[in-house]
Amino acid sequence: MRYISTRGNSPAKSFTEILLAGLAPDGGLYLPEAYPRVSRSELDQWRALSYPALAFKVLEKFIDDIPAADLRALIERTYTPAVYQNSRPGDDSAEITPLRWLEPGLALLELSNGPTLAFKDMAMQLLGNLFEYALEKTGQELNILGATSGDTGSSAEYAMRGKRGIRVFMLSPAGKMSRFQTAQMFSLADPNIYNIAVEGVFDDCQDIVKSVSNDHAFKAAYRIGTVNSINWARVAAQIVYYFKGYFAATGGAGGSNEQEVSFSVPSGNFGNICAGHIARMMGLPIRQLILATNENNVLDEFFRTGVYRPRSNAETRQTSSPSMDISKASNFERFVFDLVGRDAATVRDLWAGIESGAPSGAAFDLSGGAHFPHIRDYGFVSGTSNHADRLATIRKVWAQYGIMVDTHTADGIKVGLELREPGIPLVCLETALPAKFDETIRAALGREPERPAGLMGIEQLPQRFVVMAADAPAIKRYIEERCR
Ligand SMILES: *Cc1c(COP(=O)(O)O)cnc(C)c1O
Repeated sequence: MRYISTRGNSPAKSFTEILLAGLAPDGGLYLPEAYPRVSRSELDQWRALSYPALAFKVLEKFIDDIPAADLRALIERTYTPAVYQNSRPGDDSAEITPLRWLEPGLALLELSNGPTLAFKDMAMQLLGNLFEYALEKTGQELNILGATSGDTGSSAEYAMRGKRGIRVFMLSPAGKMSRFQTAQMFSLADPNIYNIAVEGVFDDCQDIVKSVSNDHAFKAAYRIGTVNSINWARVAAQIVYYFKGYFAATGGAGGSNEQEVSFSVPSGNFGNICAGHIARMMGLPIRQLILATNENNVLDEFFRTGVYRPRSNAETRQTSSPSMDISKASNFERFVFDLVGRDAATVRDLWAGIESGAPSGAAFDLSGGAHFPHIRDYGFVSGTSNHADRLATIRKVWAQYGIMVDTHTADGIKVGLELREPGIPLVCLETALPAKFDETIRAALGREPERPAGLMGIEQLPQRFVVMAADAPAIKRYIEERCR
């Protein structure tokens, strides 16, 4: 399996060659040269598999330069009940990503039972093990530098803690994360994790990461890498749970592959739903991919109108589903590449317009072209949810089913219920647990969110972090000193 760039001007590479890479050298994103197909008989055989066994079957189609026995061992070490033990109180299933029926035809796929209570753990945990494996092979080290407003940083730290050859330097805005998120990150005692609380806002943190990444000499000398959402392995790892959700929603081991299923996906950077698109391209009988945005509705606008207009930071609103407060969907280029018939020259032109910001503002409009009329062939439909919708949905799901959902999942359920079709089961992806968003849960339900037993009292643990000014040279010196 070779990987090519969506912009067509980078050499094709193998999986392990792009494992530690972000963007391709030409500025594009990596995708498989062709999507592997899954046959009906494979689907029949895969139904009865455990999550790790299924993950191996799916991922071996994308990863052919790691010996199969090693890949299997890495996956088995990743998806264990011990790692995915943070289920809802009272829900002690040892299954990875259990499916919970709310009523006939409507289910929740629980993706948030990992260490940081968000679905990002599904991919990030595998990434940690893949990185460690690849670095060990080459004897190299990697220093991950990131900026977080909460979710991504903690997911990365829990995936990389204690890993040989890896250090994590994570910048967060001092005093701006929730108490729970702060405690989650800062209570980690692993010596390879460095929490840097920056005196500033999230954008200051991100600017520092950009400035360090643009210093190519420093980046090379200190082997600086990232774990951002464009990393291909992160997308690949997420393809698996669509298969898992499909099988669980269609009768499990004894079910059949005739029934189509729709998925609703709370979306920001388009990573999660991009994995669903790929699962569908592989032949999984997915009917609709229902994309839900919050008030930052860049993607909903595109799927309704054909116009893609990324917003500026100033136009990005802070909402009660903060992990979807995204104004440029970094994985979206992968889908557009497929939509325009994998024509890299078209993708280059579209993004040249976006990146130059001219002439009509940074946007492109596919509505008049040959491709956009076929968008429904890819299963995509979309909708937007807002703060009031979120509160109403959290209340409704609690009252009707006795299940507490988080704000992002609520956005997905709201849009999913609006757009689903009769006779097609709808699986709503649960992207976080409510314990992370206590303020909104209190506003919606007048009570505290449930918290998994293992995380009681986390705010009382000792915290390890340094406070630094928003000063890139000082942060570079801090990294240098830790790498000696
Ligand atoms: C990251 C995140 C999302 C958005 O997922 P994308 O892959 O960026 O589209 C949704 N919900 C939660 C809770 C998240 O952490």
